[in-house]
Amino acid sequence: MMKITAAVAHDFGKPVKIEEVDLDEPKNDEVRVKLVATGMCHADILATQFQMTPLPAVLGHEGAGIVEQVGPGVTNLQVGDHVILTVASCGECDQCLSGHPAECRRVNELNFGGNYADGTKRLHQGDQELGNYFGQSSFATYAIVNKRSAVKVDPELDLKWYGPLGCGLNTGAGAILNVFKPNVGDSVAVFGTGAVGLAAIMAAKMRNVQQIIAVDIHDNRLELAKSLVLRRS
Ligand SMILES: [Zn+2]
Ligand SMILES: [Zn+2]
Repeated sequence: MMKITAAVAHDFGKPVKIEEVDLDEPKNDEVRVKLVATGMCHADILATQFQMTPLPAVLGHEGAGIVEQVGPGVTNLQVGDHVILTVASCGECDQCLSGHPAECRRVNELNFGGNYADGTKRLHQGDQELGNYFGQSSFATYAIVNKRSAVKVDPELDLKWYGPLGCGLNTGAGAILNVFKPNVGDSVAVFGTGAVGLAAIMAAKMRNVQQIIAVDIHDNRLELAKSLVLRRS
């Protein structure tokens, strides 16, 4: 067990508090990641307002960091690997086995249930157990994650930019590439050009969609959206 610092959500409707928390050792198929950065997604804010996951908990689900300890059964990651953290999945159901871990049959339980796959928690404050969020709880200095949720990346990348690949970017790009699948002659309108919307715009550009419409109330975001579309690929 080690002492870490985390943003703890104690009650709905109240701000999170930066506090000292105890973190367990990684169990089977888990690694401990020293977080370098984490994105903030709207689903983190919603979880402090509505009962999306039991509190108290440590939120955060767009973590990026470096593997510091490897638990039993982990062969795909080593100490020192740079990783981006993403959605928790079981690895055993038909959806996971057919390459759709985000559609895992246990996706709600593993990402919003507060426990790891074995039904236990890794975060504590004295006798009080804290729930995990999306299998990572990355609003913290360290996180325990399943080996399936830590995606190894090039160590040359500056990790502080890449956390949103774990949720916002794959949500926006996935909606375009896997669901809408627009073609050259189609039009795509994206309402809201944050991480999710900008990813959708980049994905639409990848598919050579001719008319991409961005809608937002922030001019700077619209400028950024325009720069992504006008950039030559
Ligand atoms: Zn998210
Ligand atoms: Zn599964």
